[in-house]
Order: sequence, then C-alpha cells, then structure tokens
Amino acid sequence: MAHRIAKALSKLRSQVNSRWPDRNKASDGWIGDTAHQATNSDHNPHVKDGTTGVVTALDITHDPKSGCDAGVVAEVLIASRDPRIKYIIWNHQILAGDAGQSPWKWRGYQGKNPHTRHVHLSVKATKAMYDDERPWAVPGGVAPSQPSAPAPTPTKRATLKRGAKGADVRHLQKLLGIEVDGVFGADTEAAVRKAQAKHGLGVDGVVGPYTWEALTK
Ligand SMILES: [Zn+2]
Repeated sequence: MAHRIAKALSKLRSQVNSRWPDRNKASDGWIGDTAHQATNSDHNPHVKDGTTGVVTALDITHDPKSGCDAGVVAEVLIASRDPRIKYIIWNHQILAGDAGQSPWKWRGYQGKNPHTRHVHLSVKATKAMYDDERPWAVPGGVAPSQPSAPAPTPTKRATLKRGAKGADVRHLQKLLGIEVDGVFGADTEAAVRKAQAKHGLGVDGVVGPYTWEALTK
C-alpha cells in the first residue's frame, strides 16, 4: 500500500534540517522497520487518508554537537503547546499533548527503546492535525535560508493560564471582550475555552502561541 509522511511532520523535519544543516541524522526515522511493524507504533502507516497510509510519527536524532539537542527540541515543542502534538518520547520519558493522559507532563516511559538517541514525536490522527503545515516552534526559530516560507508568527506574549495577572491578562481580556480586571480567573478561563473551541484549537484554557495568534487575527 502507498504511504507517506504526515505533512505536519515533513514541515518539522525541513525546519530542523534548515536550522541545523550539518546535523547527524543517524537515528532519524519515520516509516516503521520490521520490528515496528508488529506493533501499533505511529511509525506504521496505520492512519488512512483515502487509500494512502499516513505515518504520523517522526524521530529526530539527538546531536547536541551540531546544536540539535533533542531535549531542547522537545522542550520548545512542549512550551508551544502545539495542538498537533499527540505525544513526545525522550530520554526514558513520555509526555502527552492536550488530548492525552496528564497533558504536558513528563511521565516515566517503560518501552523497550529508552529514546536516548532521538526524540520521538507523534501527531494526532485527524487530517486537520497531521496535515497542518504551519511552522512548528523550533529552537532558534526558522532559519533565514527559507525566504519564501510564510513568516512564522510566534507571539512575544507570555503563555497565560489560570492564576496569571498583569498587563498581558488585561490585553487578553480585551481581546476576549470580557471584563478587564487583569486577573486570569474562572471567567477568563471559560472565555478562553470558548474561543479555543470556536477557532478549532485544542481546548485547554491555556493561552499559548496559537491561541494568541487566533485571538489577535
Ligand atoms: Zn519513534
């Protein structure tokens, strides 16, 4: 059967390759090898787009010498709260995205491969997620060698969640059209969740880069 890599992951791979052109790719991977094929790994094209199998996982080699530190790549992805993330495995630990168990928290990973040579990223199995080619958050941003790529729109605003206070919260409340008191409480969180649902984002009540972007459009 024909298969391909998820477009979201080929985007990430090209961003990483532009960022560190000389990086070691020895432990890179996307399509499952025979060992994987017996398992339900996302490296197998078990997600179907019509008759084409889609691989929804990507491994990026840990090569700190070149600058491509898999742990840093993971942390930057996590900090972005990207709604496409299903889970990340790195260095004996696994972390689920917004729809998984204990979202955005590292848990011990007991799988056979401890993932010390590469970071593994799985994206969600819906086409709107796995074929979403928006730029990912990558350490140091998108390399300038991609002038034709749409400019990434990382916001300088802090990620906000319940308990936050101050000018950014005031700005958020203005954008949401709710009472402006500078305190991120229950009402603000409810308004954020509503806005996230409206914009098709992961509904977690946390205002990260994508939520800021959606609100400021
Ligand atoms: Zn993997």
